[in-house]
Parts: sequence; C-alpha cells; structure tokens
Amino acid sequence: MKLYSTNNKDLRVSFKEAVFNSLPADKGLYMPVDIPKLDPYFISNLQNYSLQEIAFEVAYRLIGDDIPADDLKKLVKEAINFDAPVVPLDAGMAVLELFHGPSLAFKDFGARFMSRVMSYFSGYDDQLLDVLVATSGDTGGAVALGFLGVAGTRVTILYPKGKVSPIQELQLTTHGQNIRAVEIDGTFDDCQALVKEAFNDPALNQRFRLTSANSINIARLIPQTFYYFYAYAQLLSQGLKDVVFSVPSGNFGNIGAGLLAYKMGLPVRQFLAATNVNDTVPRFLENGLYEPRPSIQTLANAMDVGNPSNWVRIMDLFGGAIDQVKEKVTAYRFTDEDTRAAIHSLVDHFGYIACPHTAIAWLAAQAYQKDHPGEYATVFLSTAHPCKFPEVFTPETSAKIRIPAQVTALVDREKQVEHVEKSYESFKSYFLKA
Ligand SMILES: *Cc1c(COP(=O)(O)O)cnc(C)c1O
Repeated sequence: MKLYSTNNKDLRVSFKEAVFNSLPADKGLYMPVDIPKLDPYFISNLQNYSLQEIAFEVAYRLIGDDIPADDLKKLVKEAINFDAPVVPLDAGMAVLELFHGPSLAFKDFGARFMSRVMSYFSGYDDQLLDVLVATSGDTGGAVALGFLGVAGTRVTILYPKGKVSPIQELQLTTHGQNIRAVEIDGTFDDCQALVKEAFNDPALNQRFRLTSANSINIARLIPQTFYYFYAYAQLLSQGLKDVVFSVPSGNFGNIGAGLLAYKMGLPVRQFLAATNVNDTVPRFLENGLYEPRPSIQTLANAMDVGNPSNWVRIMDLFGGAIDQVKEKVTAYRFTDEDTRAAIHSLVDHFGYIACPHTAIAWLAAQAYQKDHPGEYATVFLSTAHPCKFPEVFTPETSAKIRIPAQVTALVDREKQVEHVEKSYESFKSYFLKA
C-alpha cells in the first residue's frame, strides 16, 4: 500500500512509514493511493466466511504487499479474537455489537490491530517501542489494552487522577506486563501536554523510541472496515441484501472505515452519521459550511468532538465533492434529552440496554426509516458496553446490566499505578528512571 497526504496528493509513503508517523508533516491525513476492490463473488458469498477470514481477505487486499500472507493471517487472528454479532431488535432493525473486545468498546478493533502491525514492523530484536498515551479514560484504555503482551512494545498511559470511572481505572491499572499506568495530579489536558512535551524532548527521543499510537493512524482505520463486511455477511445469511448502517460519530473514524469498505465494493444503501449536539458535520451537510466549534460535554462523551479529525478523509474518499458525500451519508444530531429518552425506550420496548452513543445511533436509524419507508435492513452500531457508563441509567436498569468477564476478572487484581505531579520535570524523571 502506498499512501498520499490529503494535503499533497503527489506525496508517496509506505504503509510502514504511515504507521510510525501517523500524521504527514503537512498536517493532512494519510490515504491509500489505490483503493482495491474485493472480488464481487467473495462479497456475494460473505456468509460462508468467519470474521477472521473476512478480516484477513480485506487486510490482504489493502496491505498484502507490506506484510506477507502468513504473517498477516497470524496477525489478524491475534488481533481480531472476539466476536461482532448482529443482534436483531425488531423487524428491519438490528444492532451490530462491537463491544466484545477487552476494553468493551469498538476501539479494540483499531487498537489491537495497530499494536500488532507496529510490533511486526519494529521487529523483535530492535529497540523497544515506547508508546505514550494520554487518556481521559476510555480511548486510551483501548490503546493500552491493545498493546497488552505485544512483543517489543511498552505502553505508558497517563490519566487524570480521580477523573476516570472505577471500571476504567481497573482497566488501566491492573494489567502490569508491558503496561504502566501513571496517575497525574491534573486534568486530561495536563496529561496531553506532558505527552506532547515528551515527543518534543530531544533527550527522551535519543534514549527511547517513542510513538503516539495516534487515533488517526491508518492502521486503526483499516481493521474498522472488517466488521462492516462481517455484518453484511450475517445479514446475507438471513437473506437480506439491502443495508443501512447507522454509526454514532465523534471523530468520524468509524464511519470513515465504513465508507472505505463501501469504496472497496461492499454494497451499502446508506450511511447515517449520528452525532450528539457536537454537530459540525450535520451542519456542514446542511449548509456546506465547515465550521468547527469548541466541543460541548454530553452524555455520549466519546463523541464530544467539535472538529472531527477524520472528516477530511471522508471528503477525500468522495473526491472533495460534498454532493457525492451527501448521496451516501445522511446526518442526524440528537440532544442529551433525546438520548435519555432513547435509552429508556430501548429498555421498555426491547429490553435492550444501550450505552448513550449506541442510543444515538438507534435514534438516527429510526429517523431514517421514518423518512425512507421501504424494504431494507437498518443496522445501528453499538460502540461500547453499557456498563462503562453507569451514571446514565436508572438504578433499576443499572441493576440489570451484566458486567462482562473482562471486567469482573480485574476486580481482585492488584492495582499498580505511579503518581506523578503535572510538571514535565516530574514526568521526565519518572520516565528516565523507570
Ligand atoms: C470513539 C467512540 C465513538 C466515536 O467514534 P469515532 O470513530 O470517533 O467517530 C463512539 N462511541 C464510543 C463508545 C467511542 O468510544
């Protein structure tokens, strides 16, 4: 795979380079020069393949020149080792559950795949790859867990003391092995500032091989295409062919991967971009003006993004033409009030407990079905397990949420965490001595 920058289509870098640098120097995003089409026969017979088989086939078409087939097969098998079931909810409506991985969120797909790609390219005998991550709780947790036990890598994860949920804290601090948790006396922004300063510090860069495992890394986007194909496979096995995907969107990486899958030949009738009141994209699709705004805090906090970083990728996939994007993407926005009502309604009508992000995707799916009556299946993506957001549910609903084994297994483990003040000097001395 060769890649260009969305800011410079003449640039050419290798997949490996794009993986280790995440971002081109011109501040664009890396995009594949050629988007391969999957064999139509393979697509119309997807129901005969497992998630891992589909993932391998898709990955091979994209990066088969960069990672030999046998290695790639092994890599996919290790990274994508959990299910992504399509669960029927109602006639014509189903939910694609993407939260069965170790961090209970769809980001496991991206993080687990990227970590193994990095480990593969860095080679087992080379210098240790040091991954630095700042997290407000969720996203960074998936990255840290994605690297758990991956040879040749070490993760240092910084989080704001007292500002992550109990489950998140368990997920960050109880793994040991190659993951180190650092609790900062400060905010998420302080954590991020420390990580940024570390990347710019020549002394640290000389001694350590630092990488950011950035959320816009191309190796995180690729594996998110897998579950769109696999969802389609599951629909095919029920005799359904016409599908709408509703995607709860923040940075637009998830829906971007869906659109990449579409460009690779997956037949999709429509994509729904479901947002909370951070509605930069819905506004853009309405009036053609891209006006990012500071983010607003909502119940669906993983979608509190005022300037979605992957949007340029989506524009790029459609040659920069807003009309073409609008033909394939319909956007909806919902308030916290809508979200709460949707959570209740899902419990009342279907006995289904959805996290706030998922509830927003369901609202968009319903709105689209209402506006476009017809015979098709609408699949809304569930991006996180509800147990990660206990504060949004009523006590009765909370009591019904089954905590998955991935979390209960952590409760008795020893918490290992280092306390560091928010000054860079403190962090640096921790890093140098550890
Ligand atoms: C990250 C995240 C999202 C948003 O995904 P994007 O790829 O940023 O659009 C939605 N839901 C949950 C639970 C998330 O963690």
